[in-house]
Amino acid sequence: MYKEILLRLTPEEAHDEERCRRAAAAAAGVDVADVNVMRLLRRSIDARKRQIFVQLQYGIWVGEEPAVQASPLRYGPVDGGRRVVVVGAGPGGLFAALRLIELGLCPVVLERGKDVSARKRDLATLCRNQGLDPDSNYAFGEGGAGTFSDGKLFTRSTKRGDFGKVLDVFCHHGASEQIRIDAHPHIGTDKLPAVIRAMRQTILDCGGEVRFGARVTGLLLADGAVRGVTLADGSRVDGSAVVLATGHSARDVYRFLDAAGVALEAKTWAMGVRVEHPQELIDSIQYHSPQGRGDYLPAATYSFVTQVDGRGVYSFCMCPGGFIVPAMTEPEQMVVNGMSPSRRNSPFANSGIVVEVRPDDIGPYMNRGPLGGLDFQAEYERLAYVNGGRGVVAPAQALADFVDGRLSFDLPECSYVPGVVSSPMHFWMPEHIGSRLRRGFADFDRQAHGFVTNEALVVGVESRTSSPVRIPRRPDTLQHIGVAGLFPCGEGAGYAGGIASSAIDGERCADMVAHYLGCAR
Ligand SMILES: Cc1cc2nc3c(=O)[nH]c(=O)nc-3n(C[C@H](O)[C@H](O)[C@H](O)COP(=O)(O)OP(=O)(O)OC[C@H]3O[C@@H](n4cnc5c(N)ncnc54)[C@H](O)[C@@H]3O)c2cc1C
Repeated sequence: MYKEILLRLTPEEAHDEERCRRAAAAAAGVDVADVNVMRLLRRSIDARKRQIFVQLQYGIWVGEEPAVQASPLRYGPVDGGRRVVVVGAGPGGLFAALRLIELGLCPVVLERGKDVSARKRDLATLCRNQGLDPDSNYAFGEGGAGTFSDGKLFTRSTKRGDFGKVLDVFCHHGASEQIRIDAHPHIGTDKLPAVIRAMRQTILDCGGEVRFGARVTGLLLADGAVRGVTLADGSRVDGSAVVLATGHSARDVYRFLDAAGVALEAKTWAMGVRVEHPQELIDSIQYHSPQGRGDYLPAATYSFVTQVDGRGVYSFCMCPGGFIVPAMTEPEQMVVNGMSPSRRNSPFANSGIVVEVRPDDIGPYMNRGPLGGLDFQAEYERLAYVNGGRGVVAPAQALADFVDGRLSFDLPECSYVPGVVSSPMHFWMPEHIGSRLRRGFADFDRQAHGFVTNEALVVGVESRTSSPVRIPRRPDTLQHIGVAGLFPCGEGAGYAGGIASSAIDGERCADMVAHYLGCAR
């Protein structure tokens, strides 16, 4: 007999594993001694009311064993297989490469940045404010923008692909099985590098290639089809198809595509600030208790969305127990983002609070064509840079002061290691972003009383939530609308946002490459 049982327990009860097992057996009407196997399938927290509940879903096998599930992943040798160039080793590129291997094709992964270990050293240099490597930073390098992140694995795009398969691939490469159970899974910045390294090893063991320091500077085009790419060192890499998974920060890629006459489109994106609160404050708001989260609950999260003057204003990439990090890719830019370790145990909670930006919001920049949004984004980052301190010291303002339009004389403590400097961000931000942000914050405070406070800090700027440019592709084949064999992939192509959806998109692009090459399985 197999039964599924849903328990709603207090956090303290749910913390006691043995007690949960007994409660699940009792709810299934069986003696715990008769249970062959009991598995926790799903865990979520219901914090809508004052009494918090942990919801646990168990699978219980009595008098039988669960069927042994063979791994759905098949990574075999592909040396000698047709070569497919994969540009970028972020989630889009890595998942495309691993899926190509399953399909018997040989990926050649070209990554402008360094391997995760070398990249870590460059991030330490950056956080000490001792210089930025434009090819090795929080956006560029092995694992892409997702490596030194919170590693939240959440997507709304499950309709377009198999999220379960993405979790399988992560677990196969060393991620905790907990990601299959938690309603809002995350891996953590301390665990991700080993997972990414293991993915690289699979590609190499199967006969694929991974080249670092390989910055792609152009496409090799002939008769309307792509035949490979050129690299910054002047060499070329041939391939039967190219998966272009370069992320939204690779502005040089959009520019070389545009210069080569490859069609691009302007799209809606979002920009704003990163906000940081003491985690204790968020815990007390979200768990409705001045005592905070107590001993049995995780660091609380939040998610807000509102409409201000016809544009969405929303929280993005919330990192409980996390850190704000410098995420720029070129000198004289100021960009911040957030990350958390797996235990989410820093005393700070941060998230991006961003405003939807449509191409017709950016005035004269729109007349510059599909890349106008990039110029507007760059200008916003330059403004933040000139209003910040030396190097990567970020401009900041206490949150209530920002909402009220006042300069902050005192700034609260902050997790951003390079440091912050007080700046009247309400004053220099483009009006259509700044004013919507201020009204959006006021609305969030009505939803979560105490959210707007001078104990919290806004840090500038959160500009890279998504790409202002799309590299358009045909919905049926996922090939670029004008270049055969070119598969724009992931966040930089404008078809994904976040680790999980970029990974799903990588898998889908690989499937379509196999169709294109006539070797679909
Ligand atoms: C600090 C931080 C925290 C984040 N936290 C989360 C999170 O918790 N959850 C979540 O879902 N998302 C998070 N994100 C967003 C997430 O990382 C991205 O959505 C995701 O990585 C996009 O995947 P991608 O493969 O499309 O592009 P990317 O990850 O951007 O990868 C693109 C890769 O292409 C390489 N590249 C670029 N140009 C070239 C070139 N010319 N030649 C060769 N290689 C090139 C880059 O070096 C990079 O490695 C975070 C991002 C940042 C910066």
